Amino acid sequence: MTNITQDRERHTVHWFRKGLRLHDNPSLRAGLVGATTYRCIFILDPWFAGSSNVGINKWRFLLQCLEDLDNSLHKLGSRLFVIRGQPTDALPKLFKEWGTTSFTFEYDPEPFGKHRDKHIKEMCADLGISVSSHVSHTLYDLEAIITRNNGHSPLTYHRFQDVIASLGPPPEALDGIDDKVIGNAYTPICDDHNDKYGVPTLEELGFETEDLGSPTWQGGETEALARLERHLQRKAWVASFAKPKMSPQSLLASPCGLSPYLRFGCLSTRNFYHRLTRLYVSIKKADPPLSLHGQLLWREFFYCAATNNANFDRMEGNPICVQIPWDKNPQALAKWASGQTGFPWIDAIMIQLREEGWIHHLSRHAVACFLTRGDLWLSWEEGMKVFEELLLDADWSVNAGSWMWHSNSSFFQQFFSCYCPVRFGRKADPNGDFIRKYLPVLRYYPRAHIHEPWTAPENVQKACKCVIGKDYPLPMVHHPTVASINSERMKQVYIQLKKYRGPGNGLVSPNGPNIYNQRPKCDRYDLSSNKENVYAMNDDENSDNLFK
Ligand code: FAD
Ligand code: MG
Repeated sequence: MTNITQDRERHTVHWFRKGLRLHDNPSLRAGLVGATTYRCIFILDPWFAGSSNVGINKWRFLLQCLEDLDNSLHKLGSRLFVIRGQPTDALPKLFKEWGTTSFTFEYDPEPFGKHRDKHIKEMCADLGISVSSHVSHTLYDLEAIITRNNGHSPLTYHRFQDVIASLGPPPEALDGIDDKVIGNAYTPICDDHNDKYGVPTLEELGFETEDLGSPTWQGGETEALARLERHLQRKAWVASFAKPKMSPQSLLASPCGLSPYLRFGCLSTRNFYHRLTRLYVSIKKADPPLSLHGQLLWREFFYCAATNNANFDRMEGNPICVQIPWDKNPQALAKWASGQTGFPWIDAIMIQLREEGWIHHLSRHAVACFLTRGDLWLSWEEGMKVFEELLLDADWSVNAGSWMWHSNSSFFQQFFSCYCPVRFGRKADPNGDFIRKYLPVLRYYPRAHIHEPWTAPENVQKACKCVIGKDYPLPMVHHPTVASINSERMKQVYIQLKKYRGPGNGLVSPNGPNIYNQRPKCDRYDLSSNKENVYAMNDDENSDNLFK
Protein backbone atom coordinates (compact mmCIF):
# COMPACT_ATOMS: atom_id res chain seq x y z
CA MET A 1 0.00 0.00 0.00
CA THR A 2 1.44 3.40 -0.90
CA ASN A 3 1.67 6.00 1.79
CA ILE A 4 -0.66 8.77 0.65
CA THR A 5 0.60 11.17 3.31
CA GLN A 6 4.19 10.84 2.12
CA ASP A 7 4.53 13.99 0.08
CA ARG A 8 2.19 16.14 2.09
CA GLU A 9 2.92 18.32 5.05
CA ARG A 10 2.44 16.49 8.29
CA HIS A 11 -0.34 17.80 10.51
CA THR A 12 -0.57 15.78 13.69
CA VAL A 13 -3.28 15.36 16.25
CA HIS A 14 -2.39 13.53 19.48
CA TRP A 15 -5.33 12.15 21.41
CA PHE A 16 -4.90 11.93 25.19
CA ARG A 17 -7.10 9.35 26.95
CA LYS A 18 -5.10 7.78 29.74
CA GLY A 19 -1.39 8.57 29.53
CA LEU A 20 -1.99 12.14 30.73
CA ARG A 21 1.67 13.10 30.65
CA LEU A 22 4.45 14.40 28.44
CA HIS A 23 7.22 12.16 29.77
CA ASP A 24 7.46 8.64 28.35
CA ASN A 25 4.95 9.41 25.64
CA PRO A 26 6.21 7.49 22.59
CA SER A 27 3.03 8.07 20.59
CA LEU A 28 3.17 11.85 20.88
CA ARG A 29 6.86 11.75 20.03
CA ALA A 30 6.15 9.71 16.92
CA GLY A 31 3.56 12.29 15.87
CA LEU A 32 6.02 15.16 16.25
CA VAL A 33 8.65 13.72 13.92
CA GLY A 34 8.70 15.92 10.84
CA ALA A 35 5.39 17.56 11.74
CA THR A 36 4.44 21.04 10.57
CA THR A 37 1.62 21.43 13.07
CA TYR A 38 0.53 19.46 16.11
CA ARG A 39 -2.46 19.64 18.38
CA CYS A 40 -2.99 17.71 21.60
CA ILE A 41 -6.62 16.94 22.33
CA PHE A 42 -8.74 15.37 25.04
CA ILE A 43 -12.33 14.46 24.22
CA LEU A 44 -14.92 14.82 26.93
CA ASP A 45 -18.63 14.44 26.70
CA PRO A 46 -20.15 17.01 29.09
CA TRP A 47 -23.53 15.33 28.99
CA PHE A 48 -21.99 12.00 29.92
CA ALA A 49 -19.97 13.63 32.70
CA GLY A 50 -23.01 14.82 34.60
CA SER A 51 -24.95 11.59 34.25
CA SER A 52 -22.19 9.02 34.59
CA ASN A 53 -21.47 6.77 37.52
CA VAL A 54 -18.16 8.42 38.18
CA GLY A 55 -17.89 10.36 41.42
CA ILE A 56 -17.04 14.04 41.70
CA ASN A 57 -13.58 13.40 43.19
CA LYS A 58 -12.59 11.48 40.08
CA TRP A 59 -13.84 14.21 37.78
CA ARG A 60 -11.98 16.81 39.78
CA PHE A 61 -8.81 14.74 39.58
CA LEU A 62 -9.20 14.35 35.82
CA LEU A 63 -9.78 18.08 35.29
CA GLN A 64 -6.68 18.84 37.37
CA CYS A 65 -4.69 16.45 35.16
CA LEU A 66 -5.94 18.30 32.10
CA GLU A 67 -5.13 21.73 33.61
CA ASP A 68 -1.63 20.51 34.32
CA LEU A 69 -1.18 19.20 30.78
CA ASP A 70 -2.46 22.48 29.39
CA ASN A 71 0.05 24.40 31.55
CA SER A 72 2.93 22.20 30.45
CA LEU A 73 1.97 22.52 26.81
CA HIS A 74 1.61 26.28 27.27
CA LYS A 75 5.23 26.45 28.41
CA LEU A 76 6.15 24.78 25.11
CA GLY A 77 4.17 27.35 23.11
CA SER A 78 1.23 25.00 22.65
CA ARG A 79 -2.09 24.33 24.37
CA LEU A 80 -4.38 21.44 25.17
CA PHE A 81 -7.61 21.28 23.17
CA VAL A 82 -10.48 19.89 25.22
CA ILE A 83 -13.07 18.80 22.72
CA ARG A 84 -16.69 18.52 23.82
CA GLY A 85 -18.44 15.54 22.25
CA GLN A 86 -18.06 11.90 21.29
CA PRO A 87 -14.89 10.65 19.58
CA THR A 88 -16.62 9.15 16.55
CA ASP A 89 -18.57 12.38 15.89
CA ALA A 90 -15.96 14.90 16.90
CA LEU A 91 -12.84 13.45 15.31
CA PRO A 92 -13.81 13.50 11.61
CA LYS A 93 -14.97 17.10 11.91
CA LEU A 94 -11.74 18.17 13.53
CA PHE A 95 -9.63 16.26 11.04
CA LYS A 96 -11.38 18.10 8.23
CA GLU A 97 -11.15 21.51 9.86
CA TRP A 98 -7.49 21.09 10.74
CA GLY A 99 -6.30 19.25 7.64
CA THR A 100 -5.00 16.41 9.82
CA THR A 101 -2.71 13.87 8.18
CA SER A 102 -1.37 12.02 11.18
CA PHE A 103 -3.13 10.81 14.30
CA THR A 104 -1.46 9.41 17.42
CA PHE A 105 -2.62 7.93 20.72
CA GLU A 106 -1.33 5.62 23.42
CA TYR A 107 -2.16 1.95 22.87
CA ASP A 108 -5.07 1.01 25.12
CA PRO A 109 -4.82 -2.65 26.22
CA GLU A 110 -8.33 -2.95 27.68
CA PRO A 111 -10.99 -4.69 25.57
CA PHE A 112 -13.34 -1.72 25.35
CA GLY A 113 -10.48 0.56 24.33
CA LYS A 114 -9.17 -1.90 21.76
CA HIS A 115 -12.61 -2.18 20.20
CA ARG A 116 -13.05 1.61 20.06
CA ASP A 117 -9.57 2.12 18.62
CA LYS A 118 -10.11 -0.49 15.93
CA HIS A 119 -13.02 1.57 14.61
CA ILE A 120 -11.09 4.81 14.89
CA LYS A 121 -8.23 3.27 12.92
CA GLU A 122 -10.61 2.09 10.20
CA MET A 123 -12.08 5.56 9.99
CA CYS A 124 -8.61 7.08 9.68
CA ALA A 125 -7.71 4.61 6.94
CA ASP A 126 -10.78 5.75 5.00
CA LEU A 127 -9.74 9.38 5.45
CA GLY A 128 -6.14 8.71 4.42
CA ILE A 129 -4.81 9.63 7.86
CA SER A 130 -1.84 7.71 9.22
CA VAL A 131 -2.15 6.32 12.74
CA SER A 132 0.62 5.70 15.25
CA SER A 133 -0.11 4.07 18.58
CA HIS A 134 2.53 2.80 21.04
CA VAL A 135 2.47 0.75 24.23
CA SER A 136 3.15 2.94 27.26
CA HIS A 137 0.41 2.33 29.83
CA THR A 138 1.83 -1.06 30.80
CA LEU A 139 5.41 -2.15 31.32
CA TYR A 140 5.33 -4.68 28.50
CA ASP A 141 3.46 -5.25 25.30
CA LEU A 142 0.91 -7.62 26.81
CA GLU A 143 0.60 -9.56 23.59
CA ALA A 144 4.28 -10.46 23.88
CA ILE A 145 3.61 -11.95 27.32
CA ILE A 146 0.66 -13.89 25.98
CA THR A 147 2.59 -15.18 22.99
CA ARG A 148 5.37 -16.31 25.29
CA ASN A 149 2.75 -18.17 27.36
CA ASN A 150 1.42 -20.20 24.40
CA GLY A 151 -1.31 -17.77 23.48
CA HIS A 152 -2.98 -17.46 26.90
CA SER A 153 -2.72 -14.88 29.65
CA PRO A 154 -0.90 -16.45 32.60
CA LEU A 155 -3.48 -16.93 35.35
CA THR A 156 -1.18 -17.52 38.27
CA TYR A 157 1.20 -14.88 39.48
CA HIS A 158 3.86 -17.55 39.73
CA ARG A 159 3.57 -18.42 36.06
CA PHE A 160 3.37 -14.75 35.19
CA GLN A 161 6.66 -14.06 36.94
CA ASP A 162 8.34 -16.89 35.05
CA VAL A 163 7.22 -15.43 31.74
CA ILE A 164 8.28 -11.92 32.72
CA ALA A 165 11.68 -13.19 33.83
CA SER A 166 12.17 -14.73 30.41
CA LEU A 167 11.36 -11.42 28.72
CA GLY A 168 13.93 -9.35 30.62
CA PRO A 169 13.31 -5.83 31.91
CA PRO A 170 10.70 -3.64 30.17
CA PRO A 171 11.82 -0.85 27.81
CA GLU A 172 13.25 2.30 29.41
CA ALA A 173 10.94 5.29 29.82
CA LEU A 174 11.44 8.13 27.36
CA ASP A 175 12.23 11.67 28.47
CA GLY A 176 9.74 14.51 28.48
CA ILE A 177 8.85 16.58 25.45
CA ASP A 178 11.05 19.64 24.95
CA ASP A 179 11.80 22.15 22.22
CA LYS A 180 14.24 19.76 20.64
CA VAL A 181 11.64 17.04 20.28
CA ILE A 182 9.10 19.51 18.96
CA GLY A 183 11.55 20.79 16.35
CA ASN A 184 9.82 23.02 13.83
CA ALA A 185 6.33 21.89 14.65
CA TYR A 186 3.90 24.47 16.04
CA THR A 187 0.37 24.56 17.36
CA PRO A 188 -2.09 26.94 15.66
CA ILE A 189 -3.94 28.59 18.55
CA CYS A 190 -6.93 30.84 17.95
CA ASP A 191 -7.88 33.85 20.10
CA ASP A 192 -10.96 32.18 21.46
CA HIS A 193 -9.07 29.03 22.45
CA ASN A 194 -10.15 29.23 26.10
CA ASP A 195 -13.82 29.52 25.19
CA LYS A 196 -13.71 26.80 22.60
CA TYR A 197 -11.16 24.38 23.98
CA GLY A 198 -10.41 25.35 27.58
CA VAL A 199 -10.50 22.81 30.41
CA PRO A 200 -14.07 22.89 31.78
CA THR A 201 -14.92 23.44 35.42
CA LEU A 202 -16.84 20.95 37.54
CA GLU A 203 -19.81 23.34 37.50
CA GLU A 204 -19.75 23.35 33.71
CA LEU A 205 -20.02 19.57 33.86
CA GLY A 206 -23.12 19.91 36.00
CA PHE A 207 -21.67 19.14 39.44
CA GLU A 208 -22.67 20.92 42.63
CA THR A 209 -19.47 22.02 44.29
CA GLU A 210 -20.73 23.96 47.29
CA ASP A 211 -20.05 21.22 49.83
CA LEU A 212 -16.89 19.97 48.19
CA GLY A 213 -13.87 20.01 50.51
CA SER A 214 -10.34 20.60 49.27
CA PRO A 215 -8.88 17.59 47.47
CA THR A 216 -6.74 15.04 49.26
CA TRP A 217 -5.19 14.13 45.92
CA GLN A 218 -4.12 16.73 43.38
CA GLY A 219 -4.21 15.46 39.81
CA GLY A 220 -1.52 15.97 37.19
CA GLU A 221 1.88 14.96 35.89
CA THR A 222 3.71 17.70 37.82
CA GLU A 223 2.33 16.42 41.10
CA ALA A 224 3.00 12.81 40.03
CA LEU A 225 6.68 13.48 39.35
CA ALA A 226 7.10 15.34 42.65
CA ARG A 227 5.48 12.39 44.42
CA LEU A 228 7.76 9.94 42.65
CA GLU A 229 10.78 11.77 44.09
CA ARG A 230 9.29 11.63 47.59
CA HIS A 231 8.34 8.00 47.10
CA LEU A 232 11.90 7.07 46.13
CA GLN A 233 13.41 9.09 48.98
CA ARG A 234 11.21 7.23 51.39
CA LYS A 235 12.09 3.89 49.81
CA ALA A 236 15.79 4.74 50.08
CA TRP A 237 15.36 5.65 53.74
CA VAL A 238 13.41 2.48 54.40
CA ALA A 239 15.98 0.34 52.61
CA SER A 240 18.82 1.84 54.60
CA PHE A 241 17.37 2.21 58.06
CA ALA A 242 14.04 0.70 58.82
CA LYS A 243 11.69 -2.10 58.09
CA PRO A 244 8.39 -0.63 56.98
CA LYS A 245 5.69 -1.42 59.45
CA MET A 246 2.00 -1.15 59.11
CA SER A 247 0.82 1.64 61.39
CA PRO A 248 -2.54 3.38 61.69
CA GLN A 249 -0.88 6.25 59.82
CA SER A 250 -0.50 3.96 56.78
CA LEU A 251 -4.28 3.90 56.48
CA LEU A 252 -4.30 7.56 55.51
CA ALA A 253 -3.52 9.08 52.12
CA SER A 254 0.23 9.55 51.86
CA PRO A 255 2.10 12.30 50.02
CA CYS A 256 4.14 9.47 48.46
CA GLY A 257 1.10 7.59 47.14
CA LEU A 258 1.19 6.96 43.41
CA SER A 259 -1.74 4.77 42.44
CA PRO A 260 -4.12 7.44 41.05
CA TYR A 261 -1.23 8.84 39.01
CA LEU A 262 -0.45 5.47 37.49
CA ARG A 263 -4.14 4.96 36.76
CA PHE A 264 -4.48 8.20 34.81
CA GLY A 265 -1.03 7.80 33.32
CA CYS A 266 0.30 11.02 34.93
CA LEU A 267 3.21 8.81 35.89
CA SER A 268 4.72 6.25 33.55
CA THR A 269 4.98 2.76 35.02
CA ARG A 270 8.23 2.29 33.14
CA ASN A 271 9.64 5.44 34.66
CA PHE A 272 8.68 4.20 38.11
CA TYR A 273 10.07 0.74 37.39
CA HIS A 274 13.48 1.89 36.19
CA ARG A 275 13.88 4.57 38.86
CA LEU A 276 13.28 1.86 41.46
CA THR A 277 15.86 -0.38 39.81
CA ARG A 278 18.47 2.35 39.77
CA LEU A 279 17.82 3.22 43.38
CA TYR A 280 18.16 -0.39 44.40
CA VAL A 281 21.41 -0.81 42.50
CA SER A 282 22.84 2.36 44.05
CA ILE A 283 22.05 1.20 47.60
CA LYS A 284 22.56 -2.54 47.41
CA LYS A 285 25.23 -2.61 44.73
CA ALA A 286 23.50 -5.61 43.18
CA ASP A 287 20.94 -6.39 40.54
CA PRO A 288 17.43 -6.22 41.96
CA PRO A 289 15.29 -9.33 42.27
CA LEU A 290 12.04 -9.41 40.32
CA SER A 291 10.18 -8.95 43.60
CA LEU A 292 11.43 -5.37 43.84
CA HIS A 293 8.83 -4.55 41.27
CA GLY A 294 6.15 -6.70 42.87
CA GLN A 295 3.43 -4.08 43.00
CA LEU A 296 3.88 -2.98 39.43
CA LEU A 297 3.94 -6.59 38.29
CA TRP A 298 0.64 -7.28 40.03
CA ARG A 299 -0.83 -4.43 38.05
CA GLU A 300 0.66 -5.88 34.89
CA PHE A 301 -0.65 -9.34 35.80
CA PHE A 302 -4.26 -8.12 35.96
CA TYR A 303 -3.92 -6.05 32.80
CA CYS A 304 -2.62 -9.12 31.04
CA ALA A 305 -5.39 -11.36 32.37
CA ALA A 306 -8.02 -8.87 31.19
CA THR A 307 -6.75 -7.74 27.83
CA ASN A 308 -8.51 -10.40 25.74
CA ASN A 309 -11.50 -10.98 28.00
CA ALA A 310 -14.32 -8.50 27.40
CA ASN A 311 -16.29 -10.13 30.23
CA PHE A 312 -13.50 -9.74 32.76
CA ASP A 313 -15.66 -7.39 34.83
CA ARG A 314 -18.57 -9.80 35.29
CA MET A 315 -19.26 -13.30 36.50
CA GLU A 316 -21.57 -14.50 33.75
CA GLY A 317 -19.85 -15.32 30.50
CA ASN A 318 -16.45 -14.83 32.07
CA PRO A 319 -14.40 -17.95 31.36
CA ILE A 320 -12.05 -17.43 34.30
CA CYS A 321 -14.69 -16.66 36.92
CA VAL A 322 -16.16 -19.25 39.26
CA GLN A 323 -19.96 -19.08 39.17
CA ILE A 324 -21.02 -18.41 42.75
CA PRO A 325 -24.70 -18.03 43.74
CA TRP A 326 -24.35 -14.65 45.45
CA ASP A 327 -27.37 -13.15 47.19
CA LYS A 328 -29.13 -10.05 45.94
CA ASN A 329 -29.92 -7.47 48.60
CA PRO A 330 -30.00 -3.83 47.50
CA GLN A 331 -30.59 -2.55 51.06
CA ALA A 332 -27.59 -4.38 52.44
CA LEU A 333 -25.48 -3.21 49.51
CA ALA A 334 -26.53 0.40 50.14
CA LYS A 335 -25.54 0.13 53.81
CA TRP A 336 -22.12 -1.15 52.86
CA ALA A 337 -21.62 1.46 50.15
CA SER A 338 -22.63 4.37 52.36
CA GLY A 339 -20.75 3.31 55.49
CA GLN A 340 -23.81 2.27 57.52
CA THR A 341 -23.02 -1.34 58.35
CA GLY A 342 -22.69 -0.69 62.08
CA PHE A 343 -19.09 -1.97 62.08
CA PRO A 344 -17.00 1.17 62.65
CA TRP A 345 -13.89 -0.22 60.96
CA ILE A 346 -15.79 -1.03 57.76
CA ASP A 347 -17.82 2.18 57.83
CA ALA A 348 -14.83 4.44 58.42
CA ILE A 349 -13.10 2.91 55.39
CA MET A 350 -16.14 3.41 53.18
CA ILE A 351 -16.45 7.04 54.32
CA GLN A 352 -12.78 7.63 53.61
CA LEU A 353 -13.29 6.16 50.14
CA ARG A 354 -16.28 8.41 49.50
CA GLU A 355 -14.66 11.57 50.84
CA GLU A 356 -11.10 11.19 49.60
CA GLY A 357 -11.08 8.65 46.79
CA TRP A 358 -8.35 6.36 48.11
CA ILE A 359 -8.11 3.61 50.74
CA HIS A 360 -5.21 1.43 51.84
CA HIS A 361 -4.68 -2.02 50.37
CA LEU A 362 -5.58 -3.75 53.65
CA SER A 363 -8.67 -1.58 53.95
CA ARG A 364 -9.68 -2.84 50.51
CA HIS A 365 -9.21 -6.39 51.77
CA ALA A 366 -11.43 -5.63 54.73
CA VAL A 367 -14.37 -4.12 52.87
CA ALA A 368 -14.15 -6.55 49.94
CA CYS A 369 -14.23 -9.54 52.25
CA PHE A 370 -17.10 -8.06 54.27
CA LEU A 371 -19.22 -7.49 51.15
CA THR A 372 -18.59 -10.86 49.52
CA ARG A 373 -17.46 -14.13 51.05
CA GLY A 374 -17.16 -12.81 54.62
CA ASP A 375 -20.38 -11.25 55.79
CA LEU A 376 -22.93 -10.11 53.23
CA TRP A 377 -22.50 -12.74 50.50
CA LEU A 378 -23.13 -10.14 47.80
CA SER A 379 -21.54 -10.22 44.37
CA TRP A 380 -18.05 -8.83 43.87
CA GLU A 381 -19.43 -7.06 40.80
CA GLU A 382 -21.40 -4.72 43.06
CA GLY A 383 -18.33 -3.88 45.09
CA MET A 384 -16.30 -3.35 41.96
CA LYS A 385 -18.89 -0.85 40.69
CA VAL A 386 -18.78 1.16 43.91
CA PHE A 387 -14.98 1.24 43.72
CA GLU A 388 -15.21 2.26 40.07
CA GLU A 389 -17.37 5.21 41.07
CA LEU A 390 -15.31 6.39 44.02
CA LEU A 391 -11.75 5.10 43.84
CA LEU A 392 -9.31 7.45 42.10
CA ASP A 393 -7.05 4.59 41.11
CA ALA A 394 -9.80 2.23 39.97
CA ASP A 395 -9.01 0.82 36.60
CA TRP A 396 -11.04 -1.73 34.80
CA SER A 397 -8.52 -4.56 34.82
CA VAL A 398 -6.96 -4.23 38.28
CA ASN A 399 -10.23 -3.43 39.99
CA ALA A 400 -12.15 -6.37 38.52
CA GLY A 401 -9.18 -8.71 38.93
CA SER A 402 -8.70 -7.77 42.58
CA TRP A 403 -12.39 -8.20 43.34
CA MET A 404 -12.45 -11.64 41.74
CA TRP A 405 -9.36 -12.54 43.69
CA HIS A 406 -10.70 -11.45 47.06
CA SER A 407 -14.07 -13.08 46.58
CA ASN A 408 -12.51 -16.46 45.67
CA SER A 409 -13.90 -16.09 42.18
CA SER A 410 -10.76 -16.63 40.17
CA PHE A 411 -7.02 -17.12 40.11
CA PHE A 412 -7.31 -20.30 42.23
CA GLN A 413 -8.05 -18.43 45.39
CA GLN A 414 -9.67 -20.53 48.07
CA PHE A 415 -9.94 -18.57 51.29
CA PHE A 416 -12.44 -20.26 53.56
CA SER A 417 -11.71 -18.12 56.57
CA CYS A 418 -12.63 -14.49 56.58
CA TYR A 419 -11.59 -11.28 58.23
CA CYS A 420 -13.35 -10.35 61.43
CA PRO A 421 -14.36 -6.69 61.04
CA VAL A 422 -13.77 -6.07 64.75
CA ARG A 423 -10.44 -7.88 65.20
CA PHE A 424 -9.05 -6.64 61.92
CA GLY A 425 -10.00 -3.10 62.88
CA ARG A 426 -8.41 -3.38 66.31
CA LYS A 427 -5.22 -4.69 64.81
CA ALA A 428 -4.96 -1.97 62.17
CA ASP A 429 -6.24 0.90 64.29
CA PRO A 430 -5.74 -0.04 67.96
CA ASN A 431 -6.67 3.35 69.42
CA GLY A 432 -9.55 3.92 67.05
CA ASP A 433 -8.15 7.23 65.76
CA PHE A 434 -8.84 6.28 62.16
CA ILE A 435 -12.44 5.54 63.09
CA ARG A 436 -12.85 8.82 64.99
CA LYS A 437 -11.50 10.75 61.99
CA TYR A 438 -14.06 9.39 59.55
CA LEU A 439 -16.92 8.70 61.96
CA PRO A 440 -16.97 11.77 64.19
CA VAL A 441 -20.23 10.51 65.66
CA LEU A 442 -18.12 7.95 67.57
CA ARG A 443 -15.40 10.41 68.58
CA TYR A 444 -16.07 10.20 72.31
CA TYR A 445 -15.96 6.41 72.43
CA PRO A 446 -13.09 5.00 74.45
CA ARG A 447 -10.53 2.68 72.95
CA ALA A 448 -12.11 -0.33 74.64
CA HIS A 449 -15.45 0.07 72.86
CA ILE A 450 -14.76 1.96 69.65
CA HIS A 451 -14.53 -1.14 67.45
CA GLU A 452 -17.74 -2.65 68.82
CA PRO A 453 -19.67 0.26 70.28
CA TRP A 454 -22.82 -1.83 70.69
CA THR A 455 -21.10 -3.64 73.55
CA ALA A 456 -20.68 -0.42 75.55
CA PRO A 457 -23.09 -0.18 78.49
CA GLU A 458 -25.98 2.23 78.07
CA ASN A 459 -24.52 4.83 80.42
CA VAL A 460 -21.26 4.82 78.44
CA GLN A 461 -23.16 5.21 75.16
CA LYS A 462 -25.04 8.18 76.60
CA ALA A 463 -21.89 9.74 78.01
CA CYS A 464 -20.31 9.33 74.53
CA LYS A 465 -23.25 11.23 73.04
CA CYS A 466 -23.95 8.41 70.63
CA VAL A 467 -26.53 5.76 71.40
CA ILE A 468 -26.11 2.73 69.21
CA GLY A 469 -29.22 1.93 67.20
CA LYS A 470 -30.22 5.60 67.32
CA ASP A 471 -27.23 7.82 66.51
CA TYR A 472 -25.13 5.12 64.86
CA PRO A 473 -26.48 1.81 63.46
CA LEU A 474 -26.41 -1.51 65.24
CA PRO A 475 -24.25 -4.07 63.41
CA MET A 476 -26.18 -5.23 60.35
CA VAL A 477 -25.16 -8.87 60.83
CA HIS A 478 -23.96 -11.10 63.61
CA HIS A 479 -20.47 -11.61 62.28
CA PRO A 480 -19.56 -15.01 63.80
CA THR A 481 -22.83 -16.54 62.54
CA VAL A 482 -22.74 -15.25 58.98
CA ALA A 483 -19.02 -15.85 58.67
CA SER A 484 -19.43 -19.52 59.47
CA ILE A 485 -22.46 -19.92 57.17
CA ASN A 486 -20.63 -18.21 54.33
CA SER A 487 -17.50 -20.20 54.85
CA GLU A 488 -19.60 -23.36 54.53
CA ARG A 489 -21.27 -22.01 51.37
CA MET A 490 -17.89 -21.30 49.85
CA LYS A 491 -16.70 -24.82 50.65
CA GLN A 492 -19.82 -26.20 48.95
CA VAL A 493 -19.15 -24.14 45.82
CA TYR A 494 -15.69 -25.65 45.55
CA ILE A 495 -16.91 -29.17 46.30
CA GLN A 496 -19.48 -28.84 43.51
CA LEU A 497 -16.84 -27.43 41.23
CA LYS A 498 -14.59 -30.40 41.83
CA LYS A 499 -17.45 -32.85 41.36
CA TYR A 500 -18.54 -31.51 37.99
CA ARG A 501 -15.10 -30.91 36.65
CA GLY A 502 -14.12 -33.90 34.56
CA PRO A 503 -10.50 -34.45 33.62
CA GLY A 504 -9.37 -31.67 31.33
CA ASN A 505 -12.85 -30.24 31.20
CA GLY A 506 -13.33 -27.19 33.33
CA LEU A 507 -16.77 -26.25 34.59
CA VAL A 508 -15.51 -22.73 34.94
CA SER A 509 -14.51 -22.37 31.35
CA PRO A 510 -16.50 -24.46 28.90
CA ASN A 511 -15.35 -22.24 26.04
CA GLY A 512 -12.20 -20.62 27.22
CA PRO A 513 -8.90 -21.95 28.53
CA ASN A 514 -9.34 -24.38 31.37
CA ILE A 515 -7.72 -22.46 34.16
CA TYR A 516 -7.30 -25.57 36.25
CA ASN A 517 -4.98 -26.99 33.65
CA GLN A 518 -2.60 -24.17 34.33
CA ARG A 519 -0.42 -24.83 37.31
CA PRO A 520 -3.00 -24.69 40.11
CA LYS A 521 -0.63 -23.29 42.66
CA CYS A 522 -2.11 -20.90 45.17
CA ASP A 523 -0.01 -17.77 44.98
CA ARG A 524 -0.03 -15.45 47.90
CA TYR A 525 -1.36 -12.07 47.05
CA ASP A 526 0.16 -10.62 50.15
CA LEU A 527 3.02 -8.50 48.91
CA SER A 528 4.85 -8.78 52.19
CA SER A 529 5.58 -12.41 51.44
CA ASN A 530 8.69 -11.08 49.70
CA LYS A 531 10.54 -11.67 52.92
CA GLU A 532 13.95 -11.73 51.32
CA ASN A 533 13.43 -8.24 50.13
CA VAL A 534 12.28 -5.78 52.72
CA TYR A 535 12.97 -3.09 50.23
CA ALA A 536 10.18 -4.07 47.92
CA MET A 537 7.63 -4.37 50.63
CA ASN A 538 4.40 -2.56 50.72
CA ASP A 539 3.45 -1.11 54.09
CA ASP A 540 1.39 -4.19 54.59
CA GLU A 541 2.28 -6.68 57.24
CA ASN A 542 1.32 -10.27 57.22
CA SER A 543 -2.40 -10.38 57.67
CA ASP A 544 -2.83 -14.03 58.62
CA ASN A 545 -3.48 -13.35 62.28
CA LEU A 546 -6.46 -11.23 61.40
CA PHE A 547 -8.50 -14.16 60.21
CA LYS A 548 -11.01 -15.64 62.48
P1 FAD B 1 1.76 1.10 45.97
O1 FAD B 1 1.62 0.10 47.04
O2 FAD B 1 2.82 2.13 46.15
O3 FAD B 1 1.93 0.40 44.55
C1 FAD B 1 2.24 1.12 43.36
C2 FAD B 1 1.39 0.63 42.25
O4 FAD B 1 1.48 -0.76 42.07
C3 FAD B 1 -0.09 0.90 42.43
O5 FAD B 1 -0.39 2.17 42.01
C4 FAD B 1 -0.73 -0.15 41.57
O6 FAD B 1 -0.76 0.26 40.23
C5 FAD B 1 0.21 -1.30 41.72
N1 FAD B 1 -0.26 -2.20 42.77
C6 FAD B 1 0.05 -2.17 44.09
N2 FAD B 1 -0.52 -3.19 44.75
C7 FAD B 1 -1.22 -3.87 43.84
C8 FAD B 1 -2.01 -5.03 43.91
N3 FAD B 1 -2.18 -5.69 45.03
N4 FAD B 1 -2.61 -5.45 42.78
C9 FAD B 1 -2.42 -4.79 41.62
N5 FAD B 1 -1.67 -3.70 41.49
C10 FAD B 1 -1.07 -3.24 42.58
N6 FAD B 1 -5.11 -1.08 42.46
C11 FAD B 1 -5.22 -0.30 41.40
O7 FAD B 1 -4.22 0.27 40.94
N7 FAD B 1 -6.44 -0.10 40.80
C12 FAD B 1 -7.58 -0.69 41.27
O8 FAD B 1 -8.65 -0.51 40.70
C13 FAD B 1 -7.48 -1.52 42.42
N8 FAD B 1 -8.59 -2.12 42.95
C14 FAD B 1 -8.45 -2.94 44.03
C15 FAD B 1 -9.59 -3.60 44.53
C16 FAD B 1 -9.49 -4.44 45.63
C17 FAD B 1 -10.73 -5.14 46.14
C18 FAD B 1 -8.22 -4.66 46.22
C19 FAD B 1 -8.09 -5.56 47.41
C20 FAD B 1 -7.10 -4.03 45.72
C21 FAD B 1 -7.18 -3.18 44.62
N9 FAD B 1 -6.04 -2.53 44.09
C22 FAD B 1 -6.19 -1.71 43.00
C23 FAD B 1 -4.67 -2.88 44.52
C24 FAD B 1 -4.01 -2.04 45.63
O9 FAD B 1 -4.84 -2.01 46.76
C25 FAD B 1 -3.65 -0.61 45.22
O10 FAD B 1 -2.94 -0.61 44.04
C26 FAD B 1 -2.77 0.07 46.28
O11 FAD B 1 -3.42 0.07 47.51
C27 FAD B 1 -2.48 1.49 45.86
O12 FAD B 1 -1.81 2.18 46.86
P2 FAD B 1 -0.35 2.82 46.63
O13 FAD B 1 -0.45 4.05 45.82
O14 FAD B 1 0.26 2.94 47.97
O15 FAD B 1 0.38 1.79 45.75
MG1 MG C 1 2.16 2.32 49.07
